[in-house]
Amino acid sequence: MDYQKILEDIYKEILPYAKEGKQADYIPALAKVNPDQFGMCLKTVTGEVYSYKQADIRFSIQSISKVFALAMCLSIRGEGLWKSVGKEPSGTAFNSLVQLEIEKGIPRNPFINAGAIVLADILLTELKDPETDFLTFVRSISGCDTIDYNMEVACSEREKGYLNAAIANMLKYHGTISNDIEDVLMFYFKMCSVEMNCEELAAAFLAFTNYTPFEYAGYRLSKSRIKRLNAVMQTCGFYDEAGEFSYLVGLPGKSGVGGGIIAIYPHRYSVAVWSPRLNSKGNSVMGMKALELLTTYTEESIF
Ligand code: GLN
Repeated sequence: MDYQKILEDIYKEILPYAKEGKQADYIPALAKVNPDQFGMCLKTVTGEVYSYKQADIRFSIQSISKVFALAMCLSIRGEGLWKSVGKEPSGTAFNSLVQLEIEKGIPRNPFINAGAIVLADILLTELKDPETDFLTFVRSISGCDTIDYNMEVACSEREKGYLNAAIANMLKYHGTISNDIEDVLMFYFKMCSVEMNCEELAAAFLAFTNYTPFEYAGYRLSKSRIKRLNAVMQTCGFYDEAGEFSYLVGLPGKSGVGGGIIAIYPHRYSVAVWSPRLNSKGNSVMGMKALELLTTYTEESIF
């Protein structure tokens, strides 16, 4: 398969959408990002790498970080994790409060903000130095030691993080989180602020692609847990657009409001795409289109 040529063809095809949508501006530091950027990288389990355009420029991974946090929490708590957070698609926006109130403080899944705030609380409870450990895990799984938090982005999000603060307060009221609200929020925002490029993300997600048990920085996932993590990505990775992503792309994946999307074709490749302009659901316009064309041109998807 000539993936390099396919990436080039995809880019030509999606150019008409280059000005559609806008970058996340509810996080003031992200509003400063040049929205007219695009990068894509596909890495196969056999070691081939196909990069296109700005695949080496780092961006805020935002909610893609929730996959790393989930991998760590699954490694620590195993199936017991699901007492604190569900694994059903929410059908609501990533920052919605509606279900959380009705369902008495148990978030629908780990990929909506409420669920990831619970993951942040679990890591704070279980680890002596969660901020260092999270970074060590991400650096280890992606094989890159220079990956770091962006404190400007984290603080900027904290300053305007009214909805996430409301979510954390509701979780605390129901006893779902046990640490100090401020500590939980700041750790959650720091995880979201991690910066990586498409090449580093594609490398990291190979761990979930080749279905071999792994251990990075002491966190271990069995083959069965990798399967389950991919299942949660498939059903919940795109919030109220999870059905649409499944329909159009047909791969497990996860998006972030920094404009990044990661997807996995099990046993074959992981692919990362980045373009900051988002649709109304908070998912990258060009990114969604690019992945839709990738599985269409290659005729490779899980369905
Ligand atoms: N940090 C972002 C928030 O909490 C993450 C959301 C996202 O990437 N979908 O709003």
